[in-house]
Amino acid sequence: MTPLGDVLLHFYIELTLITFTVTKERAMIVKMAAGNLKTKYGEYHEVLYYDGQKESIALVMGDVKDGEEVLCRVHSSCLFGHAFNSIECDCREQMEKSQQLIEKEGKGIVIWLEQEGKGNGHFALLKSVEHKRQGVKQADAYEAVGFKRDARDFRAAAEILKDLGVRSVRMITGNANKTETLTSYGVKVVGTVPT
Ligand SMILES: [Zn+2]
Repeated sequence: MTPLGDVLLHFYIELTLITFTVTKERAMIVKMAAGNLKTKYGEYHEVLYYDGQKESIALVMGDVKDGEEVLCRVHSSCLFGHAFNSIECDCREQMEKSQQLIEKEGKGIVIWLEQEGKGNGHFALLKSVEHKRQGVKQADAYEAVGFKRDARDFRAAAEILKDLGVRSVRMITGNANKTETLTSYGVKVVGTVPT
């Protein structure tokens, strides 16, 4: 190999290693598109992000840059609730309540993550339904059909909040695990508001 070829090969290997290290440690979201969206509960600025595998969306109301105690709902997708009008889960109601709270305050963020069935996918959700109807808790039902109790990943949400320049949030959630996980990824959570 020529000296130049040798240098280029080393440079390529170095770059590959650096890229691998960075992607391993962070969700590495990239902003892909933005536009406005009118909803039943006010107008939002929608920002779409991509992490190489999934799309994640932030619906932003008001000026949140450098914002403190910004209301924030981190919401996972659910076809049953959001598309099929299921009466067996409250996902749709939780989204409506969150948007109502944000509209009342005139400022806030909804982060939509593509991680249905606690991150196990719609296949797992459908397979778990009969177990759940027999009174088994959702997490136990996933385990019963061979999936993880909770496979959700909230790194993208943390990255989105950083990208939007939010300083601290009040999470709209009744789930302490979600708050703790986001805190572990560097999000400053100063309170929660139940749905
Ligand atoms: Zn649901």
